[in-house]
Amino acid sequence: PSHRRVKTPRRPALKKPAPSGLKDPVGVYCRVRPLSRPDQECCIEVINENTVQIHPPDGYRIFRNGEYRETQYSFKEVFGTLVPQKELFDVVAKPLVEDLIRGKNGLLFTYGVTGSGKTHTMTGSPGDGGLLPRCLAMIFNSIGPFQAKRFVFKLDDKNGVDVQCEVDALLERQKRDAMPVPKTPSGKRQVDPEFADMINVQDHCKAEEVDEDNVYSVFVSYIEIYNNYIYDLLEETPFDLIKPKPPQSKILREDQNHNMYVTGCTEVEVKSTEEAFEVFWKGQKKRRIANTQLNRESSRSHGVFIIKLAQAPLDADGDNVLQEKEQITLSQLSLVDLAGSERTNRTKAEGNRLREAGNINQSLMTLRTCIEVLRENQMCGTNKMVPYRDSKLTHLFKNYFDGEGKVRMIVCVNPKAEDYEESLQVMRFAEMTQEVEVARPVDRPLCGLTPGRRFRNQDLPGEILLPSFPPLPSCELLDINDDQTLPKLAEVLEERHKLRQKLSEEFAKNALTFKTILRELDSSIMSKENYVQGKLSEKEKIITGQKTELERMEKKIKTLEYKIEILEKTATIYEEDKRHLQQELESQSQKLQRQASDKRRLEARLQGMVAETTMKWEKECERRVAAKQLEMQNKLWVKDEKLKQLKAIVTEPKSEKPERPSRERDREKPIQRSISPPPVPPSSNFITQVPNSQQFVSNQQVHRRSNSCSSISVASCVMEWEQKTPSHKHTGGISKTRTRQQEPGQSRDCNTSDRRRGMCWTGITEVPKRRDELEIEEDQCCRVSAAPNAPPVRLRHRRSRSAGERWVDHKPPSNLPTDTVMQPHVPHAITVAAASEKALAKCDKYMLTHQELASDGEIETKLIKGDVFKTRGGGQAVQFTEIETLKQESPTGRKRRSSPSSADPPADAANAEWTDVETRCSVAVEMRAGSALGPGYQHHAQPKRRKP
Ligand code: ADP
Ligand code: MG
Repeated sequence: PSHRRVKTPRRPALKKPAPSGLKDPVGVYCRVRPLSRPDQECCIEVINENTVQIHPPDGYRIFRNGEYRETQYSFKEVFGTLVPQKELFDVVAKPLVEDLIRGKNGLLFTYGVTGSGKTHTMTGSPGDGGLLPRCLAMIFNSIGPFQAKRFVFKLDDKNGVDVQCEVDALLERQKRDAMPVPKTPSGKRQVDPEFADMINVQDHCKAEEVDEDNVYSVFVSYIEIYNNYIYDLLEETPFDLIKPKPPQSKILREDQNHNMYVTGCTEVEVKSTEEAFEVFWKGQKKRRIANTQLNRESSRSHGVFIIKLAQAPLDADGDNVLQEKEQITLSQLSLVDLAGSERTNRTKAEGNRLREAGNINQSLMTLRTCIEVLRENQMCGTNKMVPYRDSKLTHLFKNYFDGEGKVRMIVCVNPKAEDYEESLQVMRFAEMTQEVEVARPVDRPLCGLTPGRRFRNQDLPGEILLPSFPPLPSCELLDINDDQTLPKLAEVLEERHKLRQKLSEEFAKNALTFKTILRELDSSIMSKENYVQGKLSEKEKIITGQKTELERMEKKIKTLEYKIEILEKTATIYEEDKRHLQQELESQSQKLQRQASDKRRLEARLQGMVAETTMKWEKECERRVAAKQLEMQNKLWVKDEKLKQLKAIVTEPKSEKPERPSRERDREKPIQRSISPPPVPPSSNFITQVPNSQQFVSNQQVHRRSNSCSSISVASCVMEWEQKTPSHKHTGGISKTRTRQQEPGQSRDCNTSDRRRGMCWTGITEVPKRRDELEIEEDQCCRVSAAPNAPPVRLRHRRSRSAGERWVDHKPPSNLPTDTVMQPHVPHAITVAAASEKALAKCDKYMLTHQELASDGEIETKLIKGDVFKTRGGGQAVQFTEIETLKQESPTGRKRRSSPSSADPPADAANAEWTDVETRCSVAVEMRAGSALGPGYQHHAQPKRRKP
């Protein structure tokens, strides 16, 4: 525990001094110190001599009910920054000093945060003495000539005072002076310049009513309360440099009059302001040393300087102090410089210091609690226990609040913005403190009933005596003839009677006057009472009005609080929403990022594919160009040969049979070298020889015929031949027989599936994955025939129907290239490797190239053709209409590749017909015309490698 509770034994005896019944509120004054720098932000303004206004600094705006909150606090008096120490002293401390001299107790304390000017107000700054030196100066100015000799008054250890005669006092003085150790302050003084500055108060302030028949003595003590321990700052301790003794704490006791005092506390009798202040200064120095040595926070301790004034009347002679203890009056004035009121978090206290700081705060907290309870007790008529004993500070000053005395507080504030919050707390406490009332000390006669001792030799003012009655003469009658005594007596009696009458008249008159005065007084009192009553009712009205206003305000506060609650709830809801939306946003953006990265990856892949395909095709093109070049050379050679032949035909006489190249030789040679057309019977259309008109029989040997079309002579022959055989066109038409394979069931199937997929595929068993479009080359023949000096050859045998049609050429990549001379070719077709809806949408015809192994081991190519329909669902449907079968067959049956050495009788027969020009030409042209037999059928002029 940080402090012990000292339980003062309760004594039933001795009641408190009977209170006068009057109470005064605690006088609270406010002092606003100037800002240390002019550029500091200010948050406190002095409105008038009673009011200060505090407003939140710029960075600390509080909005309440939508308006900027400024608070005003009222005090008994407010001292602005320019108010000098003297003025403050005159208003606040002077009445306390006057009371002290009149034998009444007083308490004055400064309250405020560290740096707010408490010490400046109490002690003062160099050259500008504070309240303490000023109080001392005033005391000594007032009682200076009436001071008792040293040691006449002796303070006992029970907070009481004793008096001894001057002789005893002298003896004690001599005894003390003989003691070597503690030199009394009257000795040599080493004047501290700061100290000298402080004490130099050019103020000759004096108390007005000083009882000059009394003798006085001043005693000072200086204690410090730190961490709820009381230390005597004036204690003489042998100073040990090596091992400084820690200061001993003191305890509190309650005296007979229920006043608290510090036991064993040094109380120094002082005879002058300088001496008193020197004592204080010594204590102050000790305090500083203790703070540094023990590493204490100086702003965390309370400094209490107690001035005690003992006074006693002189005896009847006016020479000596009345030696009666009961006649001594002891009064005290406590000047307290409280610790900084700031909360612990404001200071940078750590560890041990924090605990101390907490305790110091604790004592200020207790002070606050005590004030609060007092106020509540007084205002509500309750009788709650005031927790004075909870801290040394409040315990020490208990009787000021509980008993009687004057309590004054100076609230010091620094108007800087940083102190705003703390200043607000200070203001609140101060305002509350004002509401506490403290019993007014009773005016007691300070001295005995013996008047005028000090001035016993002076003339007293003459006493106004009543006119005395004339003395009665002797009324003894000794002589019978005495005629003088009785008349004299009668005369005197008459005189006395007259005087009596006069006096009674005067008395009656005076009584009347007194009565009238009394009546007047009465009426005035009545009127005053009425006035007071009126005022009272007025005040009551105001109070009720304020009460209703208060109620209204409270209601308003409640509604506003409710509103705030609702708004807070709404705010939380909105925040929740916001969080949700942000989360959603995040997820969406993540998704977008993912998509973007996917896209990038796809792009890269596609680019790679494009590059690959481009390379492949470049290679392919090169290969094809080379092949073409070779082929073209071959063609040229063939043409030359033909030309030679033709020349020979033209130049040779008709009867002469042309020399036929021997068959054997022809067969041995590669096909490129064959000069003569192959031995197909020229008269017969080779297509018609096919039993089933769906099949073309192409012979390897007729292959070269197709290449003879670009010669000029051939062109003219063709023209001739065309004119001769107008039905040839038909042959082309007939040659190509359509097989309608449309079945009702199939068609229905398509229609139903149309609705679902938009397309119907039948007969496709294998859908290749790789999309490999193959461009179909244009017939080189046509290009050659379009030579500048040759008329363009019209493709007369193209079917008119196919002219406007667009085909989808579906060639699955699994197809093997056939070595047939006649290759299906569809001009302007979109060649696809897999069924593509996109391609189908653009075309109206469809063709699928399908290969299978025929029974004779040869590859049979089937061209499945169909019409493309648009379905209602927006898709495409293919209705298959015909199948063309391409098959390769040796003209000699199975022995196609057998040696050609064996004689062929039909060949011979055919040979016989190779005699006239017309026939030969017709055959040549027949082959060319055959290129247009089917829709898009052309002889593929690919150089053929002959198999060994
Ligand atoms: P506290 O004791 O409250 O911690 P101080 O009294 O030590 O504060 O004041 C801190 C500083 O402010 C001191 O330097 C003091 O001189 C100065 N000061 C305080 N009040 C005033 C004032 N009213 N006028 C001029 N200076 C002041
Ligand atoms: Mg201070």
